[in-house]
Amino acid sequence: MSDSARVPWEYSPAPESLKVSIESEHGIFIDGDFAPARSARTFPTINPATEETLSLIADAGAEDVDRAVSAARKAFKRWSRTAPLERGKYLFRIARRIQERARELAVLETIDCGKPIRESRDTDLPLVSQHFFHHAGWCDKLRYAIPGNSDPAPLGVCAQVIPWNFPLLMAAWKIAPALACGNTVVLKPAETTSLTALRLAEILREVELPPGVVNIITGAGETGRALVEHGDVDKVAFTGSTSVGKRIAAACAGTGKRLTLELGGKSPNIIFADAAIDQAVEGIVSGIFFNQGEVCCAGSRVLVEESVLAEVIEKLKRRMHQLRLGDPLDKNTDVGAINSATQLQTIRQYLDIGTAEGCKRFDTNCELPTRGFWCRPTLFTGVQPAATIAREEIFGPVACVMSFRTTDEAIERANNSNYGLSAGVWTDKGARAYEVAKRLKAGVVWCNTFNEFDAASPFGGYKESGFGREGGRAGLAAYVR
Ligand code: NAD
Ligand code: MN
Repeated sequence: MSDSARVPWEYSPAPESLKVSIESEHGIFIDGDFAPARSARTFPTINPATEETLSLIADAGAEDVDRAVSAARKAFKRWSRTAPLERGKYLFRIARRIQERARELAVLETIDCGKPIRESRDTDLPLVSQHFFHHAGWCDKLRYAIPGNSDPAPLGVCAQVIPWNFPLLMAAWKIAPALACGNTVVLKPAETTSLTALRLAEILREVELPPGVVNIITGAGETGRALVEHGDVDKVAFTGSTSVGKRIAAACAGTGKRLTLELGGKSPNIIFADAAIDQAVEGIVSGIFFNQGEVCCAGSRVLVEESVLAEVIEKLKRRMHQLRLGDPLDKNTDVGAINSATQLQTIRQYLDIGTAEGCKRFDTNCELPTRGFWCRPTLFTGVQPAATIAREEIFGPVACVMSFRTTDEAIERANNSNYGLSAGVWTDKGARAYEVAKRLKAGVVWCNTFNEFDAASPFGGYKESGFGREGGRAGLAAYVR
């Protein structure tokens, strides 16, 4: 929308005091300008904590996708030849502007997505700007980034499709390395969380990034499909569900498009008896309740050495009673709203399946707000490794606790999964941490911590968790020839 069409109303529910204005309609961002979809179709985006409609979002069709890809293609000619140091300056400016507008972006993220403001403000936003800072520094040093490639050339037009759990952070993970390597981008955010990506588009205009270098199209799965299947796309980067990832892989096969996939997970969090138990309990809590458990690398399978199982479960339950569920804009909130009615329904189905399979369910029985989508932090104990809830990704605040007797058994159980995104190991012995980490089939292994992210550190999966890495030098390799 044009700048004059601003602000029908201001959204500032207590207790977050910052007023963030949200336009009543949002267009797609193509070639440096916002415009409605050709069809003029829109869909609402809501606040999942209140079910209020926040704005109408343009529903981009195949024609819009085509215009976005053409704009990216046109911009590629100049952007790929822009001096690397100059490209870096744009990325630095984007990073700085994100920092300056961080509070606004955090509030907007929380309103549109449901995550606690403490997390969007203290975890997501610092990582978003960090990602642009990190990649700004790489622009003129790419020849040192990839061993054996002294002349890395950009791929061309990148189609990037992202999910709703870390909307702005996933946009940064996708856009920053693509631009650093001289590519241009068409990005599609998830349909429930388009607002922060569109606000990022405003920032791209503020820093005068050349039109067409980044285009942002909004819409649901059909829009995403039209984008990744577009014939003039050189590279597809997707983060989301394994089922959609498989469909995209099939669609890209034989087309010559480069592809990276970051898909689901069912990550083990392994607690040895010699671990600092109180810290491990904190690690279990953050591993599965951070972002309501809507985290691809969530520590959803808690494996505890049998001799401390009872102690860990008891402490975990006590700790869960202290978690505050409610208004995501309240800075004391630990557990916010589930992103959508659909996702809540999926989680509830798994809760029923767990009970039906004979697992023992515990939740804190805390009060739930009357509007919005909520799920109490939940624990299943007495879970057999073959149980559905121990194998399938729930993508909610639900942990399965299982036990093991020996290190070999811990590793065997941990690796017994179709997924392999992350793992946690809690132990007092450095040698054991290294041994276990080496034998785990997981893209990231955290020792005595969980859910730590850094732009310099590669992230990605084994098996059905996908392929390709994001972050670090490995992440750059995915964007050069
Ligand atoms: P999804 O895979 O359906 O959606 C992710 C993105 O892909 C969205 O932008 C969506 O519009 C788009 N999309 C959907 N169908 C597409 C297609 N055919 N072609 C191209 N793009 C398409 O995920 P979801 O429905 O939002 O969530 C369902 C499950 O996905 C969750 O329960 C969870 O298991 C998983 N998930 C994983 C991650 C992750 O970070 N790995 C993030 C979100 C969801
Ligand atoms: Mn929303």
